[in-house]
Order: sequence, then C-alpha cells, then structure tokens
Amino acid sequence: MLEILQIPALKDNYVYLIHDGESGETAAVDPAEADPVLQVLAANGWELTYVLNTHHHGDHVGGNLELKRRTGCRIVGSERDLERIPGIDIAVGEAAILKLGNSEARVFDVPGHTRAHIAFWFAGADALFCGDTLFALGCGRLFEGTPKEMWRSIEKLRALPPETKIYCAHEYTRANGRFALTIEPENTALKERMAEVLELRRRNQPTVPSTLKEELATNPFLRPESEEIQSNLGMTNADPVDVFAETRSRKDAFRA
Ligand code: ZN
Ligand code: FE
Repeated sequence: MLEILQIPALKDNYVYLIHDGESGETAAVDPAEADPVLQVLAANGWELTYVLNTHHHGDHVGGNLELKRRTGCRIVGSERDLERIPGIDIAVGEAAILKLGNSEARVFDVPGHTRAHIAFWFAGADALFCGDTLFALGCGRLFEGTPKEMWRSIEKLRALPPETKIYCAHEYTRANGRFALTIEPENTALKERMAEVLELRRRNQPTVPSTLKEELATNPFLRPESEEIQSNLGMTNADPVDVFAETRSRKDAFRA
C-alpha cells in the first residue's frame, strides 16, 4: 500500500511524497523546493529514498541538490537529460521499472513539453505522475517538441486505465477550464466539472488529482475526436493530431 501526500510549493506547483509503509521507502516527485518536502518528511518520520524528476525545469528540480545533501536520497531522471537533471544518479527511459518497496513504477517517455519529459505510473496504486505533460483540463506547453510528439505522448497516457489518478505538477485547472469552455461550450460534463473546480478553488482546495476518466470526458487535449471541438475549430473530420495542434496553439494565445 502506498501513501501519497500532496505538498503545495512555489506559486502553483504540487510536489508529491509517495511512501511505502512496509519497507519505509519514500519518493518525492518533482521537488520544486526542498524546505516544504523536508518539513513533511520530518512530520511523518519518513526518510527520503528517491527523488523522481519528470523533467529538468527549475520548478521541478529546484530542491534536488539540497534534498540529496540533507537526506542522501538518490535522484531518478531521464537518460536523455543527464546534463540538465541536477544530481541525477539513476537514468531511466521508456518501460523502465522502478521499485519502491513492494510497489513498482513504470516509466513512460512523454516528450513534447521538453524533449526528455518522462512520467511515472504506479499501476498498483492507480497513480500517474505526469509532471507538465497532462494537466487537469489541460496539457503542457510545447517548449521542445512538436504537436505530433506531444500527441503521441498523450496517446500513451490516454490508454491507461480510466480509474488512474492524474497527479500533475500544477494547479492550473481553473484557467484551463475557462479555455476548454471556449472550444467545447456544450459539453455537459465539462460544465459540471468547471462548477466543481470553481467551488474548490473558492475554498482554496486542490483540484488535483483528477481521474483519467474525468479527463477523457472533459479535457479538450484528450478529445480531438469531439465533433463539437472539431466543428468549433472549423476542422470537422480532421486528423486528431491537427486538431490537437490547433487546440494547443489557441490555448497558447488565450488569456483567461
Ligand atoms: Zn515544465
Ligand atoms: Fe512546471
């Protein structure tokens, strides 16, 4: 059994602690900064075994070196980004299996946001740690990849079991939802979800994690086959990659 804790960091980041009670092993996913992670570790009496980095951006690796110095943890990151993951000890790529006590995570290569972005899937816990690839009601910007690469990455994640919980790295859901409603305003599930998101945010509650099932029904970046989206983009029957690309570029230009 894994215990998963969500730690808010910086302005709108989420860091996750994953703890295996039997072995005592603990991983921190994308530690934006060290202090809040060290505090939660101490409060629970846990020792850090690993840092798991999804990609090299500062708001995901900012705590790496201090955590390594203070805890002796080992740092796991993409084998294709050795120069940009501070303190990397264990290099992984597509289909690698990482053990945390009796649980294991499978690694997916999901390039697009960055060229070496990876995701960690703990199948036994129905938990996906997807960094800045997939967000609740959104997806990451394409800083180092083409729409086609990002779409292939999203297709991998979209094929996981619908009950998979989506532990993304940012609280961007409200702004993402405002954009989603501009291209799929008649989607009832989206309208209902947005009402819940607004209420959660009004009470300062996280909207993350969601489930893949919810994302499949409401996240426009998983829905390029939607007739309503295609019609609103003037792209009826277009290739999903092209609809995805157009959706992404409209989101880039959107100001909530
Ligand atoms: Zn990023
Ligand atoms: Fe980020």
